[in-house]
Amino acid sequence: MIILRFPKSVTKKELTQALARLKSIHSDVYAINRERQDSIDVICDSDADDDKLLKMSGAIAVLRSQVSYILASRAYQNVGTDIPLSGHWQRGAAPLIIGGPCSVEDRVQVLEIAHAVHEAGADAFRGGAFKPRTSPYAFQGIGKKGYEYLAEVRAQTGLPVISEVMSAEQAHIASEYIDVLQVGARNMQNVPLLNALGKLSKPVLLKRGFSATTEELLLSAEYILRNGNRQVLLCERGIRTFETETRFTFDINAVPALKEKSHLPVLGDPSHATGKRNYVESISLAAIAAGADGLIIEVHTDPDSAISDGPQTVSVEAFARLVKKVKKVYALVKSMRRADDL
Ligand code: PEP
Ligand code: MN
Repeated sequence: MIILRFPKSVTKKELTQALARLKSIHSDVYAINRERQDSIDVICDSDADDDKLLKMSGAIAVLRSQVSYILASRAYQNVGTDIPLSGHWQRGAAPLIIGGPCSVEDRVQVLEIAHAVHEAGADAFRGGAFKPRTSPYAFQGIGKKGYEYLAEVRAQTGLPVISEVMSAEQAHIASEYIDVLQVGARNMQNVPLLNALGKLSKPVLLKRGFSATTEELLLSAEYILRNGNRQVLLCERGIRTFETETRFTFDINAVPALKEKSHLPVLGDPSHATGKRNYVESISLAAIAAGADGLIIEVHTDPDSAISDGPQTVSVEAFARLVKKVKKVYALVKSMRRADDL
């Protein structure tokens, strides 16, 4: 992969000429990145040598990268990506804590849980309206009405709201109501969905598929970034192993690996990773100690009555205790690292 770098002052004419020249020498142009402060970068593949590429009008540098997920890589952008969430989260200052039920069940339930998680210190609220269940006979979510209730949650609590989308069509509907669009593990490689999200201007919470490598996760993020949307949060939510004691296995290694390879924020999801509410706090603390930027946790006012994922859902009281401990561990870890690493 090649980055052909131009100064911010490059003219439209120079850029058009360079792109035409690249085409004429059979180079593939993948993306033009205008987000950097000091340059405009053309991401491409070419057999041409550096001298030939530097002859393009306006070009100032040629950088070659071995990684396939160039835009997501630290090699390309060393500083961590900020996801402002309308002022609810400042990268590096505190962990991003997202709480809420697996499913939006009804209006009363979702508002009650939202007020409780807000009180407990959550920075954002998550609830599934369309649910990608393993079984077609399991509860599939209440659909669009769920997005409407979530918009009401934001209006009442001020918290940004997050919900899953499974198709480009759902993404367009959701973006009218929802602040962060979630891609579930089962859709990590749904290419039309990733492309559609890349064209929207809402942050995307991208979960790792349970059989996907961290490189595959970064390549899925790359689809979104390449389409122009740079607001992506990565989420480790457990992978499938031979262990049957827990629902999945939280891949703690993925946290430092993703943080090293990418500038995108990394979240841990201990609820789906363990499938057991008694383990959620330990794995939350472990994820933060390993360098995660935040957590997404399933919470319910009455976990045993939750329509989906009850066994892994913690009570509001347990969530409140967990938030306090997570903040302490985050502060401790932060004090032991250089600010740049976060
Ligand atoms: C969820 O967040 O409720 C969910 C279905 O998660 P995952 O896609 O990680 O299985
Ligand atoms: Mn769930």
